[in-house]
Amino acid sequence: MNEALFTSLNKSCSNANATLVVVSKTRTLAQIEAYYNLGVRDFGENRVEELLQKQTALPDDIKWHAIGHLQRNKVKKVVPFVHLIHSVDSERLLEEINKCAKAIDRKIGILLQFHIAQEESKYGLASNVANNLFERKAPATFSHIDFKGVMGMATFSSDKELVRNEFKQLHSIFKEMKNNWFSNNEHFSEISMGMSGDFEIALEEGSTMLRIGSSLFPNEL
Ligand SMILES: *Cc1c(COP(=O)(O)O)cnc(C)c1O
Repeated sequence: MNEALFTSLNKSCSNANATLVVVSKTRTLAQIEAYYNLGVRDFGENRVEELLQKQTALPDDIKWHAIGHLQRNKVKKVVPFVHLIHSVDSERLLEEINKCAKAIDRKIGILLQFHIAQEESKYGLASNVANNLFERKAPATFSHIDFKGVMGMATFSSDKELVRNEFKQLHSIFKEMKNNWFSNNEHFSEISMGMSGDFEIALEEGSTMLRIGSSLFPNEL
């Protein structure tokens, strides 16, 4: 645990009106409980099996964020309890979440993940693909989806200007989506960006949600 960083992150987030999501993937229950006991309720996981095990073992008031690439055949398992899915990067995934959510009559919060990094490997939509999708199927046709905003990951790089430009790009995609499709939806308000290595820049560029893992667990790798 890194209580000093945690305290300063909390302060930065409250100044910026942002949410701190503690990324607990690969961490033990005891490591998670240490942050829970400091008041954290938002935790992020990227693998479904691990998420299910932790959700069963830990208190019910935790808000679980699914932040990693999500396979369609695993959607059904997370839909009953997940708080927010950050990684919606395809029409088929969106359809599947809506279908599973409808089956249990629960509305699911999601973020549209956009590709902003230079790395080929990072998942995400392009803005023209999202526009094309909503031209054919308006957001309201996804009856059990609560569209909450956008998410993106910057290039893993020490080039701060590159990272800043990518966050600016995500912020402008957020505005474009808001204008085009969600201007009357006050829920569409989140920009999930910023990790251990780049959260200061992300906050400066308008992040409303930080996803911080490794730096909150020093020497616990
Ligand atoms: C692991 C992960 C994070 C946290 O990254 P750190 O560099 O450990 O803070 C954030 N977002 C996603 C999607 C992740 O998979």
